Amino acid sequence: MPGSETYESIVSRDEKYVMQNYTRQPIALKKGEGAVVYDVDDNQYIDCLAGIAVNNVGHCHPNVVNAIKKQSEQLIHVSNLYYTQIQTQLAEKLVELTEMDRIFFCNSGAEAIESAMKLARSVSKKTDFVAAEQSFHGRTIGSLSVTHKEKFRKPFAPLIEDVNFVPYNDSQAVADSITNNTAAVIVEPIQGEGGVNIPSNDYLKELRKICDDTGTLLIFDEVQTGFGRTGKWFCKQHSGVQPDIMAMAKAMGGGFPIGAIASKEGITFDKGEHASTFGGNPLACAASLGAIRAIEDDSLVQRSKELGDYFVERLKNISRDDVVEVRGRGLMIGMELKSDCKKILNYARENGVLLNCTSDSVLRIVPPLVITSEQIDKVVDVIEQA
Ligand SMILES: *Cc1c(COP(=O)(O)O)cnc(C)c1O
Repeated sequence: MPGSETYESIVSRDEKYVMQNYTRQPIALKKGEGAVVYDVDDNQYIDCLAGIAVNNVGHCHPNVVNAIKKQSEQLIHVSNLYYTQIQTQLAEKLVELTEMDRIFFCNSGAEAIESAMKLARSVSKKTDFVAAEQSFHGRTIGSLSVTHKEKFRKPFAPLIEDVNFVPYNDSQAVADSITNNTAAVIVEPIQGEGGVNIPSNDYLKELRKICDDTGTLLIFDEVQTGFGRTGKWFCKQHSGVQPDIMAMAKAMGGGFPIGAIASKEGITFDKGEHASTFGGNPLACAASLGAIRAIEDDSLVQRSKELGDYFVERLKNISRDDVVEVRGRGLMIGMELKSDCKKILNYARENGVLLNCTSDSVLRIVPPLVITSEQIDKVVDVIEQA
């Protein structure tokens, strides 16, 4: 009986019917608006996770809701065996925003990384990859192969074995590990799951030069950093560096699943080389165009920068012995602690704030970009008390 279930009955059925692969927080959510979500007991929370950097435009933004409503009455799916106006519209918009040349559509971040890896191998006729320590690129076999964390990799070995991991933010290490067989270097412009690690200003520029000098493709994983999250449309714009291939997903559909890669002219799949049944389907493209319009209409890129600066400033003023560092770009913020941050999560949730902990000791704060400064004040108060 949807609408009348209690938290306990939802949990007991989840435990019975759903694979228990997630460590969930003990609340069941039913509604969201802007930066706030509500649970089945009508408690409200300021959402500083935003579906893991997905709900950049806030929950149920009217542009996204109306775009989905309208498109769902028109055409939901037809496959890529036909052209649709809305897919070409979104591709044109993404080319404009990314300043790249060609788009391939898929449905998630991992799939975008898979696509980027396949494209790099196909175009370069080489096999190997260089990736960074602490990287996270997804959970499929290919994307897991360039993901560093042993815990994620181990149960699924052997993965693609032609991957060299080098320390993040160390361009010399990348240069030293490129061989004649290296197809591409893949990096996140800011590492998300790895603990909100921000590289030095020159890192991406140096990687670009190394890749140009050696004829190696450069792949940016902007799955988490895209669509205004870091105070630019895409994080690469902070350094002015263009990759050969970039992956995007998470915030791309305003909460609706969609992903893509963008590439430079000449870096493209041949006919029949790659495909996705749902990739760029009309409903997903409508949601994405709605989300992009919301970012434009509400000036959320600028807002991300301004409120991000304010948020970091306020967090830095929490002077406590157990804070190692507060770092952030736009509304992608990490607060590194000396100890495990799980206890803070629980206290915050009980006091109306949803937070996330990554790499054990880093509070990851990635709220909707529509969050208000009053809401930020409340979040900072709760973190301080915690
Ligand atoms: C989340 C994430 C992915 C994987 O995306 P999924 O949609 O979960 O497959 C890949 N790369 C980065 C940087 C991510 O943050």
